[in-house]
Amino acid sequence: MPQFDADRDAMLARAHDAGIDAIIAIGSGTGPGSLDCGIQLANREKAGEPRIYATVGIHPHEAKLATDADFDELSGLARNPKVIAWGEIGLDYFYDHSPREVQRAVFLKQLELARAAKLPVVIHCRPSADSQNAWDECLGILAEQWGSSQIGGVLHCFTGLMEHARKALDMGFMISFAGNVTFPKAQNIRDAARELPLDRMFIETDSPFLAPVPHRGKRNEPAFVAEVARQVAELRGLATEEVAFQTAQNVYRFFKLPSASNAEMPIPAPSRGVAE
Ligand SMILES: [Zn+2]
Repeated sequence: MPQFDADRDAMLARAHDAGIDAIIAIGSGTGPGSLDCGIQLANREKAGEPRIYATVGIHPHEAKLATDADFDELSGLARNPKVIAWGEIGLDYFYDHSPREVQRAVFLKQLELARAAKLPVVIHCRPSADSQNAWDECLGILAEQWGSSQIGGVLHCFTGLMEHARKALDMGFMISFAGNVTFPKAQNIRDAARELPLDRMFIETDSPFLAPVPHRGKRNEPAFVAEVARQVAELRGLATEEVAFQTAQNVYRFFKLPSASNAEMPIPAPSRGVAE
């Protein structure tokens, strides 16, 4: 994203200093024309920076710009070994930057391409205000078009209800929590972050968006994922380090990546007996 053009090196150094071992760079970028942006970042491989993996995909915001040539380009990019998932794809009925029927068509097309590429999907789903419309449609499409692939995926930046999370878990999905889990009004997100099985959860930043408290309103960056870990740990009565370790292991396991060479399981804090 251009939000990091001025200080991308320093941002990645801060991520490393914050204890981040690996980053998944979402490659949606600004849409067609920059579909390889995640791969470019992943190709850095600089000492003193986290490992970087990439995704490719056209975000629902840019669905109206997608052409057959873009889909061909994505299928080619998906063969790059740094690419571990296809996304963000899905439905955004909150902003409606693209017509809904176009969003649905581009979502369906990319599910087909992701299946051919055997890549898990990273799902972006946001309903209209005071509605669950996009959740119902998105999960319906996944059940019809994706569940049988057995490849699974990630509900990124989860904002839904427990029933949505459970449907996704049943289809082999992981549930990922972003900075908005710290927002005062986001009680439904905190409920899900407290109740879902810890071994099915990821944490993320959604950089440059959704900076967690106490950075809210500023540009978000990977180092701030520590605040997401802190919030999830507090909700579950665990040490922050334990949530950080377990969610990182979940990522390595799900995407079949090597885990950090220096990773050690921290000593678990006493649990409050959260049912899993
Ligand atoms: Zn998103």
